[in-house]
Amino acid sequence: MRFYNYIAGEWTPPQSDRWFANINPADTRDIIGEFPRSSAHDVDHAVTAAQEAFRTWSRIPAPQRGEIIRRAGDIFRRRKEELAAIMTREMGKPLFETRGDIQEAIDTAYYSATETRRLFGYTTPSELPNKMNLSFRMPIGVCAVITAWNFPIAVPSWKIFPALAAGNTVVWKPSEDAPHSAIIFAEILEEAGVPAGVFNVVHGDAEAGAALVEHPLVRVVAFTGSTATGTAIAARCGTLNKKVSLEMGGKNAVIIMDDADLELALEGVLWGAFGTTGQRCTATSRLILHAPIHDRFLEMLIKRARMLRIGSGLDPATQMGPIINQRQCDKILSYIQIGQEEGARLVCGGHRLASGEFANGYFIEPTIFTEVRPTMRIWREEIFGPVLSVAKAESFEHAITLANDSDYGLSSSIYTRSVEYAFAAIRDIEAGITYINAPTIGAEAHMPFGGVKNTGNGHREGGWTVFDIFTEWKTVYVDFSGRLQRAQIDTQLE
Ligand code: NAD
Repeated sequence: MRFYNYIAGEWTPPQSDRWFANINPADTRDIIGEFPRSSAHDVDHAVTAAQEAFRTWSRIPAPQRGEIIRRAGDIFRRRKEELAAIMTREMGKPLFETRGDIQEAIDTAYYSATETRRLFGYTTPSELPNKMNLSFRMPIGVCAVITAWNFPIAVPSWKIFPALAAGNTVVWKPSEDAPHSAIIFAEILEEAGVPAGVFNVVHGDAEAGAALVEHPLVRVVAFTGSTATGTAIAARCGTLNKKVSLEMGGKNAVIIMDDADLELALEGVLWGAFGTTGQRCTATSRLILHAPIHDRFLEMLIKRARMLRIGSGLDPATQMGPIINQRQCDKILSYIQIGQEEGARLVCGGHRLASGEFANGYFIEPTIFTEVRPTMRIWREEIFGPVLSVAKAESFEHAITLANDSDYGLSSSIYTRSVEYAFAAIRDIEAGITYINAPTIGAEAHMPFGGVKNTGNGHREGGWTVFDIFTEWKTVYVDFSGRLQRAQIDTQLE
């Protein structure tokens, strides 16, 4: 079956007639369909449609736009089960996780919808008499949304709903590894009443993404993906003077102190490291164990990691699904090799599962390395798979130093019963997000989301902060004095 782009309210085949196959990573014999490998022509068609729709959409009162977005949330809720199955089939994570992915989009829709009744500006006193100073958040224009595959609905929703709520129009280039979910997203927005051209989907790979970044009518680029791709996009946006927000890679650490509730920490580490098969920007990929509990906790962890039920995400018993594709599978296996060559100790997993029920999918065991040193590549580089690197800390200060010895800074966590450790960690860990006694994953829609260092470029999605990406400030001075008043000049007190 062939699926099309969604442009100007029409399902549109690619002008180039090029296609790519969408494959179930748990069973590569299962071909979901063919999707457009779009070119710059298709991108231009979509951006032009979005530009034409901008004038009308941006002038609809924001709360009315919010009403349409709220309806989209309702429809996501209605289609949740159907969409969860579609998402699991195309990208592999278990159904309980894909339901959560959709729930995040529902939460974001409702949050964005209500935000349309706020979108607060500031009023301040003027320095001159009979003059008022006001400021407004203004929509910007056509926003390009480019996203990764691991959260096919939630992550795009973090960008699309606030962008639309603020009065922008959108062209979305979804990941080539999760295009079917994007089709449903478009169907839902259409049913909710989003007018033609306001929201467009152009499928494809880097070619379509790059064309979107380059298009002169695109004013904002909102990107989620790898640090390499995001950095290259930001460089182009710098040259082209476009606003760009980046959500990129992570290498997130959990610290477990000797006073922690170890059973609680165990659940958190298992979920953080092996949930979504470790394919989350916020996945726990580094574990820092305080020396007194190092051996005991490792023993508990290895025992439980070996018990994780691996399989197709469509099986309700599955706890950990497949890797997304062959390329990513090869990359993870090569890091497992590198870790051993670097001298880390492989204490759990480390193999691809390739027989029986796993024969036709991309499955890798939950893998744990101990005795990892901060100079090792498995400690420093984002693997994006079920591979956990463990190091031992002699003290709290040592643990913080290890946690911060990273080029990334997205999520972080500490398990402790000590108020002193907890608050010092909040202050000292270099990351956009810090959890206390909870895993590195678990963002909520109404809170800022993003990271420092190579994870981002200073923007935050989620919550109220996302509107800083999708609006520009308009400053207004109203002088009702009836005479020329000169700021800074006519204000000086004698
Ligand atoms: P990727 O960078 O390969 O691709 C991301 C998107 O960019 C895809 O849609 C891709 O087609 C597009 N793209 C690729 N090259 C492009 C180019 N030159 N110009 C424009 N677009 C281009 O990332 P991925 O493998 O799909 O996703 C995994 C990465 O995403 C990981 O690094 C992960 O940490 C990150 N991620 C980050 C967050 C976050 O919020 N920080 C969330 C999810 C995933």
